[in-house]
Amino acid sequence: MKKTLSESHLSKPRFECRACKGKALIPVLSLAPTPPANAFLTKADLLQPEPFFPLDLDFCTQCSFVQLRDIVSPELLFRDYVYVSSTSPVFVTHFEELAKTISRRFSFIENSLIVDIGSNDGILLKPFKKLGFRVLGIDPAEKIAREATANGVETIPEFFTPALAKKILEKHGSAALITATSAFPHIDNLDEIVEGVRILLKKDGVFMVEAYYLGDLISKNLFDTIYHEHLSYFSVRTAIRLFERLDMEVFDVEKTDTHGGSLRIFAELRNGPHALQRSHIQKFLKEEMEHKLHESLTYQNFSHKILKNKVALTELLRYLKKKKKFVAGYGAPAKGTTLLTHFGIGPETLEYIVDDSHWKQGLYMPGTHIPVFSSAKLAEKNPDYILILAWNFADPIMKKLSSFKANGGKFIIPVPEPKLV
Ligand SMILES: [Zn+2]
Repeated sequence: MKKTLSESHLSKPRFECRACKGKALIPVLSLAPTPPANAFLTKADLLQPEPFFPLDLDFCTQCSFVQLRDIVSPELLFRDYVYVSSTSPVFVTHFEELAKTISRRFSFIENSLIVDIGSNDGILLKPFKKLGFRVLGIDPAEKIAREATANGVETIPEFFTPALAKKILEKHGSAALITATSAFPHIDNLDEIVEGVRILLKKDGVFMVEAYYLGDLISKNLFDTIYHEHLSYFSVRTAIRLFERLDMEVFDVEKTDTHGGSLRIFAELRNGPHALQRSHIQKFLKEEMEHKLHESLTYQNFSHKILKNKVALTELLRYLKKKKKFVAGYGAPAKGTTLLTHFGIGPETLEYIVDDSHWKQGLYMPGTHIPVFSSAKLAEKNPDYILILAWNFADPIMKKLSSFKANGGKFIIPVPEPKLV
């Protein structure tokens, strides 16, 4: 029997809106309690109790911000982080292009300092370094930070704080660009982060943030991107509100395809020199009104859509099992933990999952304990169907496995509703 722990000291609920500090929050979505989505287990870990935490979203009736209620200790989530960005070739290209586009757009002078918060293995800083900038990474995942430094991207193995910002300022001077491409929604105390940014940023500097877009989460039913690392679900409206309160200004917003749809937010110090891209921002605000992101009813409808998704996928898998079809999973991303746990899909349905990251191979999925192997396993135990849990990489995965398809195999894309390809 699976043992679970209620580790109250490892998580705490937040009853105050992160964006506006208001306290008029209402619950809008409740997913199944799950372990931290990246807490992969060794065989020995399977015998130990596994901590499960609630996965519920609250909606701020004052500013319409959407946030996770239970905050799992960042020490638990990020110190032993195993997710290495550069194992995803799609991300490597994405960040190379991002570095080029950003440096062209803002024409930072040569040798300017660029700081990345949550820099992981230096996936964004490597291309900036190649372009002639000084780079500095900050990431609390000690092992990954050490490797990044050894590979030429100096990385401080700490959480970013105002005190650390002061230290960096003294040693390296101010930064022309500070980025937080996936870390921003991971951080509970954004006041502190932005205070650090204000200390470290040059007067004409740029703070660029990437975050999953609430608009896509809702319209595409991407509920599995909800997990304990993702504390904030931004709309443009709430992002503007947050930065205003913290003495910064959003001057431009873009959308990228990362993770099914992310926002790229450009902010500067109040009264900074960057031209306000009013038409870009207005376009988002208008769409958000049309999609009713500021109404709590929208989130109740979202909850119904998730339930429909669950029924459709689990019925499909049950039917395939009855037909004696063998189904394996492809990709063991964090969102796989949410999807499998919330839908109650375990090893009885999905005997194994393959993943290209060697960090995850040989381990077990958190919660469902499905074993993760390298893709060589597919040849050893040939599936009839492959459930693509890393659906944001569905195209490259299906291209890579074109012979599987040619031999009569089929792919299942699980969200927003199961699709057979
Ligand atoms: Zn609020």
